[in-house]
Amino acid sequence: MLIPCAVCGGKPDPYRHDWLFRCPDCGVLSSDLPVAIPDLPSDGPLDEGARAAGLDALRRRNNALILQSLADPAAKKGLRLLDVGCGPGFLLDQAADFGFAAEGIEPDANVLATGQQRGLAIRGGLFPDALSPEEHFDAIVFNDVLEHIPDVEAALVAAFRHLQPGGVLCLNCPDKRGLFFRVAAALDRIGVSGPYDRLWQKGLPSPHVWYFTPALLRRAAERAGFEASGDLRLATVDLKGLWPRIRMVRETSLPMAAAAWIFTWITWPLARLLPSDATACFFRKP
Ligand SMILES: [Zn+2]
Repeated sequence: MLIPCAVCGGKPDPYRHDWLFRCPDCGVLSSDLPVAIPDLPSDGPLDEGARAAGLDALRRRNNALILQSLADPAAKKGLRLLDVGCGPGFLLDQAADFGFAAEGIEPDANVLATGQQRGLAIRGGLFPDALSPEEHFDAIVFNDVLEHIPDVEAALVAAFRHLQPGGVLCLNCPDKRGLFFRVAAALDRIGVSGPYDRLWQKGLPSPHVWYFTPALLRRAAERAGFEASGDLRLATVDLKGLWPRIRMVRETSLPMAAAAWIFTWITWPLARLLPSDATACFFRKP
């Protein structure tokens, strides 16, 4: 399967692995790793308990930064926000504190029920099919989601259509300029592919299809009619909660997990001086 480049529409070339591609025109990386999102509850490869413990503090901080950027203090309360691929509703939980009337869409049955049971407004299904054509929002967020979607162009066009004029789109995606991605790619080149596979989420139910940079996201969004309105650097690792986060993929071996933990501690001061492994990019519908 070969997906056209999400950024420039070009034809990606095979690149280093039988599942990996690189666009010769813009440099975006893509994969054709298999997707298997459970639409019925089941035991997946992720320990969701460890995942929640490992990511909680970091995610709350990043979500607060994103919501703060989206909130317009001059606007009336109750701006309508849509979180695409909202998981069990982490961003939705916090969105009310920033004055949003927030709703989510989530295709994974394993996490959908959790959010619905907590009373959050979450619909099952995929974006944009889960919406009715006349629904419009003041803000649409893809929080670590766009990189999982094969047809990014269609997703961005649909986001444009479902935003009010002046509405804001937030794309928070992994950034291939980040230290962790660069080091993992260098290790992969010398045959140590574990960290690189992990960053692509190879073998997980919904692996990454794309690895962008903010400049590439800007190009893709502008093709869909958006205007860029700023970037926000986010943290991707926190020493607190690091161990359960590394261990959340049940099949990660202990030596591999220990190596990742030690690497993160050693490079911690350096990582903060380089581009982050995640940047949230904001766009406005004119
Ligand atoms: Zn391209």
